[in-house]
Amino acid sequence: MKEKIWLSSPHMGGNEQHYINEAFETNWVAPLGPNVVGFEADLAHFLDNDVHVAALSSGTAALHLGLILLGVRPGDAVICQTFTFSASANPIAYLGATPIFIDSESETWNMCPQALEEAIKDQMVLGNKPKAILVVHLYGMPAKMDEILTVANRYEIPILEDSAEALGSSYKGQMCGTFGTMSALSFNGNKIITTSGGGALVTKSESIKDRAIFLATQARDDAPHYQHSEIGYNYRLSNIAAGIGRGQMEVLSERVDARRKIHSWYQTIFSSISEVQVFTAPNASFYSNYWLTTILLSSFEQRESLRLALESACIESRPLWKPMHLQPVFESSPYYGKTVAADLFQVGLCLPSGSNLTEIEKNRIEEVLVSFFK
Ligand SMILES: *Cc1c(COP(=O)(O)O)cnc(C)c1O
Repeated sequence: MKEKIWLSSPHMGGNEQHYINEAFETNWVAPLGPNVVGFEADLAHFLDNDVHVAALSSGTAALHLGLILLGVRPGDAVICQTFTFSASANPIAYLGATPIFIDSESETWNMCPQALEEAIKDQMVLGNKPKAILVVHLYGMPAKMDEILTVANRYEIPILEDSAEALGSSYKGQMCGTFGTMSALSFNGNKIITTSGGGALVTKSESIKDRAIFLATQARDDAPHYQHSEIGYNYRLSNIAAGIGRGQMEVLSERVDARRKIHSWYQTIFSSISEVQVFTAPNASFYSNYWLTTILLSSFEQRESLRLALESACIESRPLWKPMHLQPVFESSPYYGKTVAADLFQVGLCLPSGSNLTEIEKNRIEEVLVSFFK
């Protein structure tokens, strides 16, 4: 049996173990300590836009706290891109709020600014002005932030940016994760860098960062005993996981370069295969980390047979995210737009894109692709 080639697997830089050992030697084996503070500083420096970063236990926790800090309460409406992973939408449900799902535009596959405005207007007529707009940079591709921010500012609705897949991506030279009132990052095992599991909330306001850490550490009031005036959470990142993060930050730029090279490699393979479209940035304003390289095939049947051909060669591939408004759990939520995301889901496939793919693995992938389309 051949060894499995994964879509995106953890890729250590080499110094992670050093930071973990340091944590053991100094007994900072806790959800606080020098690695947590150091990792936050590394992220803020990388994003380079006068931001403050709170390291958390997951990207999902970051989105949950982000919504809480934006004041989302039971019964509120929250706008959310439909074309995404369920972790974008679930925190809206945790709060007893209603997600309002928005279709994608076909250039970046992210939130369609026209459908966004239509949804806001319509919900306002119903007396239900949305409390927040949750935009995603899917597969690392930046959303059309100028257009989205114009709509958000027109109606004075804050943006929560889901940058879980887009660390290292930028739009018009500005890093993804620095556009929203708040932004979420993820360091799950399959993301561009990993802490095994982890996430972060990014904000331009130091007081929001402090509030996020307060809520993430059980909301303890300032008192010698345990005193609570608010509901808290246990969402802080472990100092051990943060040690992995510090090691990963040393190689983040290399990881972005490597994923972009894999995307170019796929472009070369498919340049002579007219049935396949490699999803690529519409122009130079959009700089994608190409977390995953994704392709569109000519039909659902062709997509499935390619997926199965790869699977029988022990190569993982995966259909694009199934839109949230088509998920059974969200079937009663309002939806605005057409069928852009639904159509992408029918014919799209994610290909192995890890920064640690070897030449031998790339040859195996190329062989299957070339013989499939022969
Ligand atoms: C991974 C991911 C998340 C959730 O991050 P976790 O760290 O796994 O909780 C949220 N949104 C998107 C788009 C993601 O890809």
